Amino acid sequence: MTDHDEVVAIDGPAAAGKSTVARMLADRLGAMLFDTGTLYRALTLEARREGVSPANGRALARLATSRHLDIVPPSSRDGRLYDVLLDGEDVTWAIRDPDVEADVSEVAAHPEVRQALLAPQRRIATGRVVIVGRDIGSIVVPDAGVKVFLQASLQERARRRLRELEGRGLPANLEAIKRDLERRDEIDSNRRAAPLRIPEGALVIDTDGMDVEAVVDLLERRVRERWRELSSADRARR
Ligand code: C5P
Repeated sequence: MTDHDEVVAIDGPAAAGKSTVARMLADRLGAMLFDTGTLYRALTLEARREGVSPANGRALARLATSRHLDIVPPSSRDGRLYDVLLDGEDVTWAIRDPDVEADVSEVAAHPEVRQALLAPQRRIATGRVVIVGRDIGSIVVPDAGVKVFLQASLQERARRRLRELEGRGLPANLEAIKRDLERRDEIDSNRRAAPLRIPEGALVIDTDGMDVEAVVDLLERRVRERWRELSSADRARR
């Protein structure tokens, strides 16, 4: 087996349910979870605090390399899937603020920013890990053992995001959420550096009308099957 055979790469548009599915799948597989959106979100938060413009790719890339981010198991039962620590500070919810969400796709579109964040992502992306993002199966770990692309209609994704915000007691409006998701998808899909694409060889799942358990069941089966194939190919080679 190679370092990436046990990597599960999950890509897809905003609010397609990637993080929730990935958390459950990682728990079932005894794998680590790495949600790469947290890197771009934490950078956006820090840029806002430091007064760095989302248009300044070079300054953003410098900022990205000067901060330390940890993603660790959840410390609280307030609905979080993990803790995000920026230089030790818990920013789990701060990086989900609408202000951060409004700027994050612009920040993530800069080639310098993506380049700065590539090496740290690749360092983490070895062994038994479920990684979530937009360019994981296409750029970060193209030889991942299993690649998945999760999609859902805009209406369904907006409804899920609405429920999530309401669950956290935040004001939310379906039409405004739809506009934001559409705008982020548009930027993520049309940028020159690492645009959102279905990676070659990915299993594409449309999650409209599927409950989370069903999606996770399907993925768990697929991953275990693939791991069995890879280890028997390994044995045959020895
Ligand atoms: O997945 P999440 O919504 O947390 O990601 C926030 C934003 O970060 C995305 O809209 C996208 O612009 C960017 N992103 C990215 N590449 C990744 C993960 C996230 O460009 N691998």
